[in-house]
Amino acid sequence: MNSDYVDQVKTIHIELTDNCQASCPQCPRNISGGPAVEFVGRNEIRLKDFQGWFPASWLTNLDRFYACGNYGDPLLARDCLEIFRYVRESSPTTFLGLHTNASLRDATWWKNLAKVMSSSARLTIGIDGLGGQHELYRKGTNFNRIMRNADAFINAGGIAVAACIVFKHNQDNLSEIESTLLSRGFKEVIFKTNNRFNDKEHIQVYDDEGNPTHILERTTLPDYRGTNDPKWTDTVSSDENELERWLDSKIIDPSCRTRKEIYVDSAGHVWPCCYIGEDMVEIANATKDGFSRLRSMSISRSKAMFSAMSLRDSTIMDVLGRDPWQSAGKTCENITCAIHCGKKKSS
Ligand code: SF4
Ligand code: SF4
Repeated sequence: MNSDYVDQVKTIHIELTDNCQASCPQCPRNISGGPAVEFVGRNEIRLKDFQGWFPASWLTNLDRFYACGNYGDPLLARDCLEIFRYVRESSPTTFLGLHTNASLRDATWWKNLAKVMSSSARLTIGIDGLGGQHELYRKGTNFNRIMRNADAFINAGGIAVAACIVFKHNQDNLSEIESTLLSRGFKEVIFKTNNRFNDKEHIQVYDDEGNPTHILERTTLPDYRGTNDPKWTDTVSSDENELERWLDSKIIDPSCRTRKEIYVDSAGHVWPCCYIGEDMVEIANATKDGFSRLRSMSISRSKAMFSAMSLRDSTIMDVLGRDPWQSAGKTCENITCAIHCGKKKSS
């Protein structure tokens, strides 16, 4: 067995479930805030699964453990608290991270979470404005409920920060958002660039039945507008030759290998990162047109690293020791790796 990754993994990023009660319009689990895509809401990691996959002795190697994911909110996983408690008890020094919309669970649950996350830990709550404004993006959540939960967590000793995505509708209120949250005991408010408008200035938002509700506009503040990545432009996403030229212009600096991180999705598959994990779910469910087709084509060149490795069939040691997984970050001639870990070749 090649022990390269077995001994060296230092961070686990985990998706505890692909379920969520919210429908943020730029989340891949739904189409512009409308009905959820049909392939989500099927998976959940239970405490028993987790304990079987990750023995306490193996967790002591970890520097960092965090729950986020591509398609769900960790709070929807029934054993979220119990899994965090198990990691904390197995490895008191591992840094714990939990990313959530925080609009679920009662005050007692949040106080118990604070006991687990009171040191070497950080809870990150998505808060995109104050009451009324916040819900324009975080559809299906409630600002007042989030504040009640955050108060319970912070007052019980938990460490919380807020992550606020900047849009046109909240860009004039950033100071007020920051001062309000800091005064409630949040350690920090992080304002986030939005890279999901691509080359658009706004998107239409829909309700659960697919009826249009409101428009979401890109911020005009230059620092938060994000990039117009060429991956999404009409030329690259529909023309094979253009894609080839674009891939050839990149050199990959694989951060999965330098960060020594693995991503475990809610079905129990292990991937080198969440971007590749998302690719595999999307491709399995994608149409054969345009960008989906080219993305599949480019991924076939890095086939080995895309072989699904399930913790439901194998141990973590076996998964990380297999040759196909070992190729992650070594043969990344695909769109996803070029986007996230690619640098322009110097001419
Ligand atoms: S809260 Fe997270 S998982 Fe849920 S819809 Fe919003 S971005 Fe997606
Ligand atoms: S995008 Fe590719 S190279 Fe970058 S971390 Fe993920 S698997 Fe590794």
